[in-house]
Amino acid sequence: MVNKSAQNALLAWYETDGRHELPWRKTDNIYHIYVSEIMLQQTQVNRVRDEYYPKFLARFPTIETLAEAELDEVFALWSGLGYYSRARNLHKTAQLARGGVPYEQKELLKLPGIGQYTASAICSFGYRQNVSVVDTNIARVLKRYFGLLAVQDKTLWKYADRFLNRSDARDHNLALMDLGSLVCLPKNPQCEVCPLRLECKGKDEPELYTRKKKKEYESLELFYGVYIKNKKVALKISEEKLYKGMLVLPSVDPIEENFIATFKHSYTKYRLTISLYHINELYDEVVWIDLNELKNAPISSLTKKAAHFFSLNDVLI
Ligand code: SF4
Repeated sequence: MVNKSAQNALLAWYETDGRHELPWRKTDNIYHIYVSEIMLQQTQVNRVRDEYYPKFLARFPTIETLAEAELDEVFALWSGLGYYSRARNLHKTAQLARGGVPYEQKELLKLPGIGQYTASAICSFGYRQNVSVVDTNIARVLKRYFGLLAVQDKTLWKYADRFLNRSDARDHNLALMDLGSLVCLPKNPQCEVCPLRLECKGKDEPELYTRKKKKEYESLELFYGVYIKNKKVALKISEEKLYKGMLVLPSVDPIEENFIATFKHSYTKYRLTISLYHINELYDEVVWIDLNELKNAPISSLTKKAAHFFSLNDVLI
């Protein structure tokens, strides 16, 4: 049975300690809430709040402006945020839903890049429907609170439904999310100040519920060519899954005497070793980007990092 006092304690805690100041919590604009949800996947709240969210919405304040934009411009504003398929899906969704972000979960789930979490978040935080939400933070709180050591996702959603406070579902979900981010931390949760401590089944050994499988990384060694002419650098549109649609340096076969630098770069599950080489012949179709404009171009953080070495090694012509 749902413990009403735990639900009330959670809401009372949210009232005083929740992150009410986050801009996407202070708006009813569903498109803005949707953009924030896509940006927040895999990205720290501060980076989204301080940098990417305001910049993106200043340029694309409505779903129509985003739908009408060139994908390159969307990528340019996403540059450095990673997981670029999110930007591609956001753009595609804007084109499919010009009239407005759908109200029904089943309609939201048909759109690219919107899974169960995002659909529920839009319905709960935007449309204020009586639905539960489970993200990584909420999952951790629920597992500990209910003492669930191993549980399938769909079962966890059932527990979230069971615990949902239907008299204020939106704040209940936001409270659980903030509790996971601020109190019920993966390591050293602060159970002594937690509003759920009286009922929580996991509080005696909370870290039992957050043991993770060791992450598996894939190591790759990549070689890129740097060709600069008239203060413009040759970039090509990537066909590869890693940076599909973005501008990247052309791949080359390494030639020792043309070596510029080697550096490391991490991207999702990849641990990359990147080596740069001068080239003076091009085999790919390229786009010439003015070096002064590079920071505004749709390039990945890898290419940004590489650009640092062009100037360091004085290869500018
Ligand atoms: S009592 Fe501790 S383990 Fe339980 S929900 Fe609160 S912070 Fe998490």
